[in-house]
Amino acid sequence: MGYSHYWAPGEPMEEREFAGIFHDFSRLYSLETGRIKDIIRGPHGEGLPIISDSLISFNGDRHCRHESDKKVLFYVPGKGEILTPSTLYGTHVESSPVRTCSSGKCSCETITLFSTANRKFVDLYEADNDFFLGSVKTNYKPYDLAVQCLLIILNRHVQNCRISSDGDDEYWFDAKLLCQMNLGYGLSFHLS
Ligand SMILES: [Zn+2]
Repeated sequence: MGYSHYWAPGEPMEEREFAGIFHDFSRLYSLETGRIKDIIRGPHGEGLPIISDSLISFNGDRHCRHESDKKVLFYVPGKGEILTPSTLYGTHVESSPVRTCSSGKCSCETITLFSTANRKFVDLYEADNDFFLGSVKTNYKPYDLAVQCLLIILNRHVQNCRISSDGDDEYWFDAKLLCQMNLGYGLSFHLS
């Protein structure tokens, strides 16, 4: 058991749809406020995340060196640490949960999305599509915010894509707000 998110269908995406996902997620990754780039690493929890026009794959930081069970705050240049992205926009809801490091790691499961143009992953998918179940367990570690943003973006660009979650809408508020402020959509997103 753990805190996970789900999307369906979990199959490779059309190139045209993936182009929109790549564009919008790249934009969030490049932000100076928001700092998505501080909370995600490569698929194995180290190095740079993969953000390309046919493959997006990332995890949290497995070498974060946080003290155990530290509430990981959100880093903003010039402001230091704030509680959540919604704090930055002055709309933090006190009751909303704060993402936390645990067991000395900010990583958990890897999220991977890819398009039909990525032969390597399409082959892997066709060989064993149980490998791509359309789910990711984040255990509400800090990179969960980036995962939620990516799934909101996915929902926007892929028709009839359904997103569900172990966390209710309150858990998704920061991601919705971050997308809304930077991509122009997000607050009207609803879990299936
Ligand atoms: Zn950590």
